[in-house]
Amino acid sequence: MDARLEAVRDTVLARNPGEAEFHQAVVEVFESLGPVHDRHPEFLEAAILERLCEPERQIIFRVPWTDDSGRVQINRGFRVEFNSALGPYKGGLRFHPSVYLGIVKFLGFEQIFKNALTGMPIGGGKGGSDFDPRGRSDAEVMRFCQSFMTELYRHIGEYTDVPAGDIGVGGREIGYLFGQYKRITNRYESGVLTGKGISWGGSLVRPEATGFGTVIFTEEMLKTRGSSFDGQRVVVSGSGNVAINAIAKAQALGANVVACSDSSGYIVDEAGIDVGLLRQVKEVERGRLKDYVLRRSGVAYVEAGSVWDVDATVALPCATQNELDGGAAARLVRNGLVAVGEGANMPSTRDAVAVFQEAGVLFGPGKAANAGGVATSALEMQQNASRDSWSFEHTEQRLTDIMVGIHHRCAATADEYGDPGNYVLGANIGGFVKVADAMLAQGLI
Ligand code: GLU
Repeated sequence: MDARLEAVRDTVLARNPGEAEFHQAVVEVFESLGPVHDRHPEFLEAAILERLCEPERQIIFRVPWTDDSGRVQINRGFRVEFNSALGPYKGGLRFHPSVYLGIVKFLGFEQIFKNALTGMPIGGGKGGSDFDPRGRSDAEVMRFCQSFMTELYRHIGEYTDVPAGDIGVGGREIGYLFGQYKRITNRYESGVLTGKGISWGGSLVRPEATGFGTVIFTEEMLKTRGSSFDGQRVVVSGSGNVAINAIAKAQALGANVVACSDSSGYIVDEAGIDVGLLRQVKEVERGRLKDYVLRRSGVAYVEAGSVWDVDATVALPCATQNELDGGAAARLVRNGLVAVGEGANMPSTRDAVAVFQEAGVLFGPGKAANAGGVATSALEMQQNASRDSWSFEHTEQRLTDIMVGIHHRCAATADEYGDPGNYVLGANIGGFVKVADAMLAQGLI
């Protein structure tokens, strides 16, 4: 790493102790930024990096609610409003027991660059709670969401901060959150949340957008080597919203998607995963992958174990952070991997990224490859602002254009900075320069 940036990094790590994921996200970005600071000493002078690593505002709050047996439960809520140079804070809410400030800050930090890369006018933020929706009834989830919003509402707004979903927050939760916001404020402010239902201000393609976008970005990477998804053997991790839609899109482009996973194990379906059945099990019944195996013959279920043991030419990690380590990366490379598109945020460890890059594998980092979700959220905001709703075809075309544009921006930036094909460098520099220019223009804020 560049010596000037090392000093800033050390300060950032020291003043945010115990936040391992945030440290990891910051270090990864800093490693790309040396060449930018050679060309732009004004960024150093204005302490852009120091400011960028310090969130504009961090909100932590108590979320009390009662479970179905009448017992009082207490969770912790977070919203980190990281950077508003390009637009209102924008980013999802994650409900998962692992959520703490370090996770929310890593996600919010990544979101700044991701959102900049989309070319849409959105800043970066993220939030969530250590609430675990698994095993909770609809009524419990509703009471939790209502309590969460009873505090959050005063901090958000269509011109201020626009949350959406992430792990553990889908259409059901956004519905409960929006209903409570509307009730408290007495405003039908559609643009305050994205990922809404289609009949009340949501956008077509938003549910599919992250997974579809990841595949579109990966297809663009494959094209640079004269290849495509057609005929690839694909392994996907996860089996939530992002994974399911990545599987569907990869199959539509001619790939054979043979495996996916949940936190209990993984399935191998050599005939190609049946997306209809997977949606039924996971989205309609809120079940587990074990239930998929019971309903279809010829499917292997491997309890525990790593889905990355399955050989593939294309890997799409769509589960969660640090799910793919150096050992798994080396195995995948030995088994013939040619490309990785990250549907999740920071799913590959730093060791894994190094293995992929060393082996010449096409590697699309999450902040570029999975930006289709938030980009389509920005399209939802556009539709809300104009009180309009667009067709599926039109919205999907916009998403495709945005993903092709992000790929182009990353590739062109990597070329410009002398490291062709390095999408990590391209994404980090491409996103950073846009935000840094805006911050410089807006003075010391
Ligand atoms: N949580 C998603 C992400 O990681 C989407 C955020 C949004 O739509 O605002 O980008």
